[in-house]
Amino acid sequence: MPVTVGVLALQGAFYEHIQLLKKAAEEEALLDWEFIEVRTPQELAKCDGLVLPGGESTTMSLVAARSNLLEPLRDYVKVHRKPTWGTCAGLILLAESANKTKKGGQELIGGLDVRVNRNHFGRQTESFQGPLDLPFLGEHAPPFPAVFIRAPIVECILPHQEGIQLGEAERDDTVVAPSRQAKGSVAEAATADQVEVLATLTGAAARSATQGRDISPDREVGDVVAVRQGNVFGTSFHPELTGDARIHAWWLHQVQSAVNKRKKLGQ
Ligand code: GLN
Repeated sequence: MPVTVGVLALQGAFYEHIQLLKKAAEEEALLDWEFIEVRTPQELAKCDGLVLPGGESTTMSLVAARSNLLEPLRDYVKVHRKPTWGTCAGLILLAESANKTKKGGQELIGGLDVRVNRNHFGRQTESFQGPLDLPFLGEHAPPFPAVFIRAPIVECILPHQEGIQLGEAERDDTVVAPSRQAKGSVAEAATADQVEVLATLTGAAARSATQGRDISPDREVGDVVAVRQGNVFGTSFHPELTGDARIHAWWLHQVQSAVNKRKKLGQ
């Protein structure tokens, strides 16, 4: 049986993700993998791992609701806890809380106990690209050419809560994801998963973002732009818009270990 990785293909840069996933699999000599576009619950059910691309999170959530995918996506991420990676708009959808959003204006999937600030860096014209250090790619890995387009950041890591993030729901202009509970051993493992900060915007990459904004490239701790919590991984930027397949390769290895683990447990 091949390992199947899906890319949610309702809107945004899904084609680019598929191309880079294929390139990563080739470079890593991962044989017997298939990469599919996901538009229906049936296609989602085939996936051992899922990517939510960059694009426009409001549109993506509306189309997902219309395609009867929103609930299956929530189950996929929060109940079955399969490996899921969101880039930019995808990261917004995977957050338990998103601000700068009208109540009712946006549905979230959730899975990451964080609050994201949508469009943190401003409008499309304030997009930028910069060399970003990603320690998870290896101690001496060359910087990654990170592309930020109306990008969100993780502005706050939230304490894990059973159920929805109640405190967040009370905030103005903030939406929260509905609760979905994993069961049995999956649930036990889930509560132990902490949010890990995998990358922050400092140095040269932060310098590319500074124009007219309150960002100091010399700060030791910059804005959080990559996080992981258990099965869920999120990046503020768009690796799919570069030719650099290193993050895709790294993530495919995460999917491979999740598949191996499930096999061992006979799930
Ligand atoms: N800020 C956008 C949103 O709200 C995401 C932008 C992107 O994915 N490039 O969906």
